[in-house]
Amino acid sequence: MNFLARQKKLREYVATSPFDALLISHLPNIRYLCGFTGSAGFLLVEEAGSVFFTDVRYDTQGREEVKGAKVIIARKSVLSALGEWIGARRKKWKGWTIGAEAEHLTVAEKKRLADLLPSGVRVRNAPALVERARTVKDTDELDRIRAAVKLGATLFERALAVLRPGVRETEVAAEMEYAARCAGAEEMSFPTIIASGARSALPHGRASEQLIPSGTFVVCDFGVILAGYCSDQTRTVWVGAASGADAEEARHAYESVKEAQEAAIAAVRPGISVGEVDAAARKVLRKARLGRYFTHSTGHGVGLEIHEPPRVAAGQEDVLKPGMVITVEPGVYFPGKWGVRIEDMVAVREDGCEVLTPTSKDFMAV
Ligand code: ZN
Ligand code: ZN
Repeated sequence: MNFLARQKKLREYVATSPFDALLISHLPNIRYLCGFTGSAGFLLVEEAGSVFFTDVRYDTQGREEVKGAKVIIARKSVLSALGEWIGARRKKWKGWTIGAEAEHLTVAEKKRLADLLPSGVRVRNAPALVERARTVKDTDELDRIRAAVKLGATLFERALAVLRPGVRETEVAAEMEYAARCAGAEEMSFPTIIASGARSALPHGRASEQLIPSGTFVVCDFGVILAGYCSDQTRTVWVGAASGADAEEARHAYESVKEAQEAAIAAVRPGISVGEVDAAARKVLRKARLGRYFTHSTGHGVGLEIHEPPRVAAGQEDVLKPGMVITVEPGVYFPGKWGVRIEDMVAVREDGCEVLTPTSKDFMAV
């Protein structure tokens, strides 16, 4: 990981911005910039260099992991250490403005920081620069994401091995999560969703104690974190006999969602806006008279976090660039009945996109 180049970009920004330093408090941003994987820390980035503050629990780990920044271990709280450090250089900091991550620094932290800082040092909201930089993945990141997606996809095989009518949703999730950990996953990207029957109409129906019924859909939405990077995938399977009027209606919904998902993937290329990708999926579902059942956005960026910019949604104007990684996940939901969603991860390339998720999307009955 090229931490030094990432910090250099930020320092170049500081040099020309109204800020004299940037205070990075969001842990995934800290990890992205200097490699620290612990749960407490602040990274202060000045034009001249960076300083990382963490507490005694991370004394060894901080010194081992952090690249491109001086490491300071706080004896009390990390925020006090930061305040003291700045206070000790009071002269230099007179009339300074520190840019904070507005989306991540809590109101309480901001107040404490203001109390700790010497007078004359201001804290102002800075734009989400690191998030913006993180949308475009470098080759190291793409390799890690590919590995995470590949491992994530094997979990669906585990799900299929146990998914039957009468089995608890949590039992299916447990099999998948055990297999993920055995294969080296740090953790799941989010609580595994195994939503059967009427619960499959809940876009975020995490696995419950419900026994999987027959003659309905099961939405399986899952992902792993491997070497820091997330995977995210959804497959929907039919349980029971795939014949009769119900099954036929289900089949129509499934094929329409699949067509919408493929149309959106076909739209993914550099220069197109994420709103246009969303529109490509929506157009297919409208034509199939299912438009009003597609109630959420088409996708989102993925990387160190499961949900990152850009938001692939109606009217969003972010433009795709090579190296961006997004999900494409249209779905339709009939409350009280069932739902269908299909989700892949794709990486934007110069010539279009690479579908990272290897799993078949053909209608499947178990
Ligand atoms: Zn998902
Ligand atoms: Zn997703």
